[in-house]
Amino acid sequence: MRLSRYFLPVLKEDPADAQIASHRLMLRAGMIRQQAAGIYSWLPLGWKVLKNIEAIVYQEQQRAGHIPMLMPTIQPAELWQESGRYDDYGKEMLRLSDRHGRDMLYGPTNEEMITDIFRSAVNSYRDLPLTLYHIQWKFRDETRPRFGVMRGREFYMKDGYTFDLTEDDAKHAYNRHLVTYLRTYERMGLQAIPMKAEGGPIGGDYTHEFLILADTGESGVFYDARIEDIRLGDRDIVYDDRAQCQGVLDEFTSLYARTDDTHDEDVFAGTPAEHRREARGIEVGQIFYFGTKYSDAMGATVQGPDGKPVPVHMGSHGIGVSRLVGAIIEASHDERGIVWPEGVTPFHAGIVNLRQGDAATDSACEGIYAELTKEGLEPLYDDRDERAGAKFATMDLIGLPWRITVGPRGVQNGKVELTSRRTGEAEEMSPEQAVARLKDIYALIV
Ligand code: ATP
Ligand code: MG
Repeated sequence: MRLSRYFLPVLKEDPADAQIASHRLMLRAGMIRQQAAGIYSWLPLGWKVLKNIEAIVYQEQQRAGHIPMLMPTIQPAELWQESGRYDDYGKEMLRLSDRHGRDMLYGPTNEEMITDIFRSAVNSYRDLPLTLYHIQWKFRDETRPRFGVMRGREFYMKDGYTFDLTEDDAKHAYNRHLVTYLRTYERMGLQAIPMKAEGGPIGGDYTHEFLILADTGESGVFYDARIEDIRLGDRDIVYDDRAQCQGVLDEFTSLYARTDDTHDEDVFAGTPAEHRREARGIEVGQIFYFGTKYSDAMGATVQGPDGKPVPVHMGSHGIGVSRLVGAIIEASHDERGIVWPEGVTPFHAGIVNLRQGDAATDSACEGIYAELTKEGLEPLYDDRDERAGAKFATMDLIGLPWRITVGPRGVQNGKVELTSRRTGEAEEMSPEQAVARLKDIYALIV
């Protein structure tokens, strides 16, 4: 993409109404535009990051064999009356009626709908286990939408639902999800700590939330600092291997880690004082096993091996896809702007032309642009007739992890500069070496 032809409405000044870094930077970098409280347009740069996050979520669900689908945003009220949540959900639910006066709602989550789909088509235990999920917009009429996309009213969520014959099977599904989530977050450059949580309106007390440590987080968290040293990394996971998935859960949940909802001082006291930490965190996902709560209420049974109907054991599992855009920025920025992890960056590298209009410099930039593109990478070429300082400031603000700087003097010597946004370190090399280096860097990002 050439910046002169792109739509990147960056702001020079800090927006007055943004209280936290990610909100401020998303507005300044032209990623989002607020349309109403907690409702945003995703401008081109923001949309790219959102889609990159969605792609990682999709790939990690794919790896575990979970099945993608899509349910609508608008749901009929009847399903929710059946489960009893139509009244329970209260004012958070956006209620609508259609031209025939039928009660509808904008889905805040999809347990009812998926249970309805399940009961209409699945009759036998032989069809289990089943994991269906979708990535879809949700609406929750939050009391205090704030912090930009972190607490929106309309937000993008991955929500998955598991159906199993027995509690044991359902717990394996739960553990498997925990593993996929850990991997998903790590690929985004994040460390998300699973913490014992409360069920809330979804129900069930077998549940963990995934939290990213950040001072601006809305949850208070209490944890054993040694948990910060544990990574899933690139170990081979066999998702059908129950013992292995259980092992990962045990490894990640044996040290104390709880949110303020479930925190217990007496239990925390069992952690050696030097390891005890009290901090703030951002919830980027949650997994639940809730047994037969919905299948009982909505008659979702299968014929068991003995021919008798048994209610299915269910779980639901959510990732805050749009919240993650803000959460990643909270975890990765500096005073000049965003610092995207390679896994989610909107463009792989920026190309800065220091002397637009100089034939040799222009042609070197075009060459690098073409080579990167040929390698399957997506560069953002700042080809505007602007001062170098302004170009650097824009690149720093939008946070591309790598920048290739091309100037007339360097070009004469066959050199360009490759700069890391994170460390600021710059290295002179030939254009070919710069392209090869980027190719290597991104080849490692899976
Ligand atoms: P919270 O406690 O932050 O209100 P929740 O526990 O009600 O969230 P879940 O039902 O667990 O949310 O939804 C799954 C994920 O969706 C959450 O972990 C979070 O990342 C994301 N999410 C929930 N509410 C919002 C929101 N208002 N804006 C953006 N993302 C949200
Ligand atoms: Mg939650």
